[in-house]
Amino acid sequence: MICDNLGIATDGNLTFAGRDAVELAKKYGTPLYLMDEEKIRYNCRTYVDAMKKYFGENALPLYASKANSFKQIYRIVNEEGMGVDVVSAGEICTAVSAGFPMEKVYFHGNNKTDADIEYAIKNGVGYFVADNIDEINAIDEISGMHNVCSKILIRITPGIDPHTYDAVATGKVDSKFGSAIETGAAMEITRLAISKKNISLYGFHCHVGSQVFDSDVFFKSSDVMLGFIAETERILGFKTKELNLGGGYGVRYVETDPVIDIADNIAQVARVVKEKCDTLGIDVPAIRMEPGRSIVADSGLTLYTVGMVKQIPEYRNYVSVDGGMTDNPRYALYNSLYTVFLANKMQEECDFLCSVVGRCCECGDIIQESVKLPSSVKRGDIAAVLTTGAYNYSMASNYNRVPRPPIVMLTEDDEYVAVRRETLEDIIANDL
Ligand SMILES: *Cc1c(COP(=O)(O)O)cnc(C)c1O
Repeated sequence: MICDNLGIATDGNLTFAGRDAVELAKKYGTPLYLMDEEKIRYNCRTYVDAMKKYFGENALPLYASKANSFKQIYRIVNEEGMGVDVVSAGEICTAVSAGFPMEKVYFHGNNKTDADIEYAIKNGVGYFVADNIDEINAIDEISGMHNVCSKILIRITPGIDPHTYDAVATGKVDSKFGSAIETGAAMEITRLAISKKNISLYGFHCHVGSQVFDSDVFFKSSDVMLGFIAETERILGFKTKELNLGGGYGVRYVETDPVIDIADNIAQVARVVKEKCDTLGIDVPAIRMEPGRSIVADSGLTLYTVGMVKQIPEYRNYVSVDGGMTDNPRYALYNSLYTVFLANKMQEECDFLCSVVGRCCECGDIIQESVKLPSSVKRGDIAAVLTTGAYNYSMASNYNRVPRPPIVMLTEDDEYVAVRRETLEDIIANDL
């Protein structure tokens, strides 16, 4: 199986976190997001332990909460000793309401509004990751109005193509994010930040891409960033306190995706960072990393009930489920791969080639194409889509006025609803 929290019970049902998935579908209804709390905690600990061990006690992983943001996730990552990234007032509000220690929050985004900046200051957000010159000016001005000095990192584009999909590649010079080293923009924005009275520059941030499997992507980005840090020290006399290397480690959506050993990768990145700092004659900054997907993706699984099964001879077979792009828009957005099973027929042979599609009025509402399911597939079966813990709930919509599914959290010997199912009342709640 793709992940060690999956299994098959003696009756042929899929198990997730040791629980019978078909039973859970019956109990809570479908569509249903399940999350394995132990797995989330295990993934957090992997980062916390490896970063402290290899980079030192001042290192800190931050959970990129855009991957899946709801109150309980902030409580869990806090208990595991991580900081978090947020990108909107909505995520800040969720973190605050979950009692998250706001000094460990980093506020990202390429276009923070004045209202966002003010909201972050009022709520004690620890750091701004400033994207551009306009933002430096706005943070300085609004901080001044509130009589605070805001800690910031500057987002730099190191000019690296992470060999992943274009839609999720952000470290190239041609990007809406950050300031490029290559064009001189990075040095210019650093100079400006240092000159500001209500800003305290702590260091630099980069995020090269997502679903990255090659560890050399992090070697290259740290190499380029440390080179830049040495330059700012030489030219501007600025001592960098923090270097944030971003997120991006890949997870297994399908059997052919490689397995990566995160702790071993972090050890290797740490070695590259220390060697480079030695060569450049600079101190090793406090390192931050920002995993999102690799914390929550394999902790999640979505269950659906199968509706119509349509065979169009010589063309294609369709299997429809009672959710779709509203709870998982990733295939529609960038053809993301997923593994689909029939949770109640795990021991049957899978020889029925089909497209698994959603219920929305949109031809692109596809969960996955070229899926093989048991040929007995029929209305009422329970379909399971694996590895849906990241960028599913957080990207979900009410298109076609479909209510969002609940999130049921599975613990070692218990389970609880972390996000309740939306109702039809919720759907019309904002309509006047
Ligand atoms: C999306 C994002 C992350 C997390 O990326 P994952 O691929 O989910 O690990 C981290 N940092 C920034 C700035 C991001 O935009």
